[in-house]
Amino acid sequence: MASFKKKIAVLGGGLAGMATTASLKEEGGFDITCFEKTDKHGGTWCYREESIEGVASIMPTTIINHSKEVGALSNFPPPKEVNNFMRHYELYQYFNEFAAQKGILEHFRFNSEVTSVKRAPDYEETGRWTVTIRNTLSEEVTTDVYDGVLVCVGHVNRPKLPMYPGQDEFKGQILHSHSLKKVAPYQDKIVTVVGMGCSGLDAAVETSSVAKQVYLSTRSGAHVINRIGYKGLPYDYNLIRSYLYKLFDIFPANFVSWLFEKSYMDLRYNQKLYAVKPDHHIFSKDPILNDHIGSKLMSGSVIMKPDIKCFTKDGIIFEGDSEVTQSDVVIMSTGYTWKFPFLEDDIVEKENDKINLYKCMFPPQLPHATLIIIGFILPFGPGFPPGELQSRWAAQILAGKCRLPSKEKMYKDIETRYEENSKRYTPNEKTSIRVDYISYCDDIASQFGAKPDILRLFFTDFRLLYRILLGPSLSYQYRLQGPHSWDGAREAIMTCEDRILWPITKRDSKAMRESLFQILIQKILNFIFFW
Ligand SMILES: Cc1cc2nc3c(=O)[nH]c(=O)nc-3n(C[C@H](O)[C@H](O)[C@H](O)COP(=O)(O)OP(=O)(O)OC[C@H]3O[C@@H](n4cnc5c(N)ncnc54)[C@H](O)[C@@H]3O)c2cc1C
Repeated sequence: MASFKKKIAVLGGGLAGMATTASLKEEGGFDITCFEKTDKHGGTWCYREESIEGVASIMPTTIINHSKEVGALSNFPPPKEVNNFMRHYELYQYFNEFAAQKGILEHFRFNSEVTSVKRAPDYEETGRWTVTIRNTLSEEVTTDVYDGVLVCVGHVNRPKLPMYPGQDEFKGQILHSHSLKKVAPYQDKIVTVVGMGCSGLDAAVETSSVAKQVYLSTRSGAHVINRIGYKGLPYDYNLIRSYLYKLFDIFPANFVSWLFEKSYMDLRYNQKLYAVKPDHHIFSKDPILNDHIGSKLMSGSVIMKPDIKCFTKDGIIFEGDSEVTQSDVVIMSTGYTWKFPFLEDDIVEKENDKINLYKCMFPPQLPHATLIIIGFILPFGPGFPPGELQSRWAAQILAGKCRLPSKEKMYKDIETRYEENSKRYTPNEKTSIRVDYISYCDDIASQFGAKPDILRLFFTDFRLLYRILLGPSLSYQYRLQGPHSWDGAREAIMTCEDRILWPITKRDSKAMRESLFQILIQKILNFIFFW
């Protein structure tokens, strides 16, 4: 008798779609098709010369914000030769190697845009979905029914454009950073960048290398973190550690923010000195990474400006200014809105700013857990490990090996996250999907038994436990146990330093290790001379 396989549609072939395809494949028992609307996989990290509406866009100079080990896929450590902060094409290569090893691309259908996902006529009994696909080359439209649908279309791809008084009269060019590619067109121009998020700082820093002058306009300022952390190691290798994140469970978020600002941020880069001191605490908005903005401000290549009051024909009047600041180009780095345009309106419920998705994945009102959203999160940390964990949990749910709690419990969980986030974060339409990196990963992993058993490790492998509790949080820990655990997980955790140090030093970690005596002397000298 032919075995029955559940037919699953994965919508979108970025990292979330690739990880989801891999997770479904390793679980087995599924007939998987991944529909990708462009002609390539990789989503954000597949560089394109043109920007496409609804597809994330990067610059030729884009570098990832998290280091290779902290952001690695859980059973696929990046090779030691790879740089710690990968340039976009290195990251794309990493994804390609992952795709080749897991046989992902054989499930992909390119140039296939999902235009509609509706409950199938027999949905109430079966939980099935009718999915409509448009072939972007031939315009052929096809419809098919699926047992499960995983939505992996990203949410950093629909530019948000504000409208200021007088903007229509402005004769210069206005674009969103979504469309910013090369900087050559801005040679000798006066450029104003609006917004001080990661994209805003990238746009200001990059264009300032050719522009006559760059102004950076910000309403609220930003805390800027450098990729290079303590002792020249990746910042997240030092900071994304479980015992540090535990502080959030013990103290109020504002206190933890204050502690971090005083003990880490201000020592490296006094934000007040550069007039970028924000009006919010560091953990109440997205962390902003940039390595060059300090020197650009020091040299005057970039000049800080407050919010825009209004546009004129040939420039901008900023709040508090009476004169016009001339501008040829305005780059709006004003963020992205979210939308799943192909879903029926009542699938992802929205109450004002609150998005009703259990664990940012499941519409709680649906009677079947057969439509799952992957990658729709804003973590305080890298996005890949939590996205991959979501996909592994989703595979277990679709396989019938895990169940969701009652509708009431799901709504309660959503409400609690929303209330906590509303207290902590500056209000935003994505407040509901903000998650604390480590606690979210632990939470999702524990749903399907992949969270490491601390008590067991205490008695059986104390060295590993020490690394997990006090070392950087690495996704390999979620392959130590549970479904599809991986024999190489322990080794990957214990050898992570070697892979971090190799591209910098071409030596292994033993050769770089300092004795306790050296560390102590350094601390004392530091205290005497630089206090
Ligand atoms: C400039 C920039 C820098 C970033 N830097 C970081 C970073 O440093 N670290 C980090 O963790 N994250 C970063 N991100 C967020 C980034 O989106 C994630 O890294 C990650 O790539 C998200 O993967 P995804 O698969 O969820 O979404 P995407 O990468 O956006 O992929 C979605 C895919 O779905 C496809 N698609 C969309 N609509 C449809 C449809 N209707 N039918 C079929 N296919 C569809 C798209 O073509 C795309 O291939 C950055 C984003 C941007 C824009």
